[in-house]
Amino acid sequence: MATYSVIIPVYNEALVIRETYRRLKTVMEQTGEPYELLFVNDGSTDGTLDILRELAVKDETVKYIDFSRNFGHQIAITAGMDYASGQAVIIIDADLQDPPELIWDMIARWKEGYDVVYARRVKRKGETLFKRWTAYVFYRLLRAATEIDIPTDTGDFRLIDRKVCNQLRYMRERNRFVRGLVSWVGFRHIAVEYEREPRLAGETKYPLKKMIRFSLDGITSFSHKPLKLASWLGFALSAASAVGMMAVLYLKWFTHSTVAGWASLLMVMLFCNGVTMTMLGITGEYIGRIYDEVKERPLYIVNETWGVGTRHERKPS
Ligand code: UDP
Ligand code: MG
Repeated sequence: MATYSVIIPVYNEALVIRETYRRLKTVMEQTGEPYELLFVNDGSTDGTLDILRELAVKDETVKYIDFSRNFGHQIAITAGMDYASGQAVIIIDADLQDPPELIWDMIARWKEGYDVVYARRVKRKGETLFKRWTAYVFYRLLRAATEIDIPTDTGDFRLIDRKVCNQLRYMRERNRFVRGLVSWVGFRHIAVEYEREPRLAGETKYPLKKMIRFSLDGITSFSHKPLKLASWLGFALSAASAVGMMAVLYLKWFTHSTVAGWASLLMVMLFCNGVTMTMLGITGEYIGRIYDEVKERPLYIVNETWGVGTRHERKPS
């Protein structure tokens, strides 16, 4: 049984994976305790799996789970947790944007008795202004929308204790926002800070489309506030239209001027239709997610594994 499980989700990371392995290996060796490097291959199409096989044959601390297709980063992390055997589970990106050396600090905190040690980025290097800006806005929006305390500027790079991992295994929701779930579970949290490095090689696997989906998952999983927006907007619009109606009637009855033209009519109609559509869209986001849940499909499908034991996705009794 390993003391530490390091989960590394990989999607087309053939360019970086050897170097990531080497850096992680060096760091984990120095802990002097048993560990496993658990790669989750999320449907890569670029030979990542071949490299994993080669590493696994040579090094028994290397284990992997291979998905039948691309299921997404958050699901890959989840699978890692289902198979991890360590007393502490560390989640880290494969592109070395998260420095493996920080794991030592995390372990030190864990040994002090903290159950979740998350890494907060105080700086992001080599990422576009657009990415930094959208990430900044997203974390603040999320914080404003949700009741639970999700730390800002914190990714999935973190260490979690076995008891936190066991609780997370119990939560099988589909459109997952793992860092939110970790906060939701509770226990003792602490942050360690770091500067985020640029990607070692290759390009981001989070294009705009995935980013938008991911942020919507984050907000809808932890907040009903967007739904309440509809009631408030409806109320505000009704109040405004009552005032407008009185003004129009006053002009008609007590003066000689009337409000003219279809332009104003069209404007009001377009505006109100826009609001209605947006609200329908928001409702749709929630309904779609309900639909995903009721289908009860498995979160992921495994093609092949190496070195791992049985999968535990429910709370062990
Ligand atoms: N990843 C994955 N499946 C995906 C997208 C990403 O397993 O569908 C992995 C990817 O290989 C990397 C981590 O998730 O290890 C973070 O992705 P990336 O570095 O591209 O995201 P960014 O740092 O640009 O937000
Ligand atoms: Mg990255």
